[in-house]
Amino acid sequence: MRTVTILGATGSIGTSTLDLVEREPDRFRVRALTANTDVAGLAAAAIRTHAERAVIADEACFDALRAALLGSGVEAAAGREAIIDAAATGADWTMAAIVGCAGLEPVMAAIATGGVVVLANKEPLVSAGEVILAAARESGATLLPADSEHNAIFQCFDFARPEGVRRIILTASGGPFRDYTIEQMRGVTREQAVAHPNWAMGAKISIDSATMMNKGLELIEAARLFPVPADRIEIVLHRQSVIHSMVDYVDGSMLAQLGPSDMRVPIAHTLAWPARMTTPMAPLDLVAIGKLEFEAPDPVRFPALRLAREALQAGGARPAILNAANEIAVEAFLQRRIGFLEIAAIVDDTLARYDPAAPTDLAAVLAVDSEARALAIERVEDCVA
Ligand code: NDP
Repeated sequence: MRTVTILGATGSIGTSTLDLVEREPDRFRVRALTANTDVAGLAAAAIRTHAERAVIADEACFDALRAALLGSGVEAAAGREAIIDAAATGADWTMAAIVGCAGLEPVMAAIATGGVVVLANKEPLVSAGEVILAAARESGATLLPADSEHNAIFQCFDFARPEGVRRIILTASGGPFRDYTIEQMRGVTREQAVAHPNWAMGAKISIDSATMMNKGLELIEAARLFPVPADRIEIVLHRQSVIHSMVDYVDGSMLAQLGPSDMRVPIAHTLAWPARMTTPMAPLDLVAIGKLEFEAPDPVRFPALRLAREALQAGGARPAILNAANEIAVEAFLQRRIGFLEIAAIVDDTLARYDPAAPTDLAAVLAVDSEARALAIERVEDCVA
């Protein structure tokens, strides 16, 4: 019996994780589930799974959560500190699936307890990579990647002999605008941008996929997780999203992980790791898929790819600034306050205006994140004016 905590339990990754956990009630016991404002979703999941605790980040939702859990035996809590406490309950296995850098402090709290921490929430790793990895080394926590690409690499990577690895190749679907011209992208709507061709995901990562910033964040994430220099991590467009990423070895062998476009596959890998568990998905039908295509990505139409690579190569505070500005710009686009092309422009502008020293601890990362957000908000206001 493994104890499980899911941070961001009401989101796309959270509900996929719950689906797997609920299929095997004899194997997993839920310690804590968290959400931001979705009281109904959180309470229903907590009652269904007999969770010990349900925590809502928005304190204004506390009374509603308490009422929804009345008589269920599930403890209710609210507020940011309560989310961090829930992360620190010492579950054997914690899914980090809050969206954005809002997940950073909860992730750090989970890591401090030394269990298995599964990272879907990529933004903290981008902004605070060194700080997170150092905390994991100190506590002995095991970090496992849930992001499909990084999970694929994790499955193919020979950690005992990393010198044999020549390249990591991240695959990218290219998002809904992979065939659009820049002019066509200028006028796209929120609805068009969240309609991903291959994956059903939360709004923020869907926009990141449309700008290809998601692949930029994943490039940085890969450099944090795997001992391979940044210039040997490549991105290739692969429309079918069947190969989730590849590891190329010096002898010419290339190992790939294939699977359906369903996040329950990589999540199940981390839930059962180092064993395997069954999932409800049908096996891949390679004959029906027929062909796998690969193309070079276009950094001109998708400048986020260039910005992310530059931020990774420069290091220091650059990835944290990139991420913070992107979170602000994506939120502004989702609120229909700025156009699609302005997302990358705001990130570029924020990076140009702010160049602090490299943050070396959590407080310094949070300070860089906060200042970059303030600068990006100014730029959003300029766009709106
Ligand atoms: P969703 O938007 O679907 O879900 C986000 C979750 O986080 C929800 O439970 C939400 O609660 C909660 N949340 C949002 N803001 C806060 C906050 N300030 N404090 C506490 N909780 C908060 O996102 P996804 O599941 O799509 O993505 C989650 C993370 O996983 C992201 O970092 C994303 O990049 C990554 N990821 C996602 C993939 C996917 O297929 N979706 C694939 C690979 C990585 P509420 O419901 O109440 O708003």
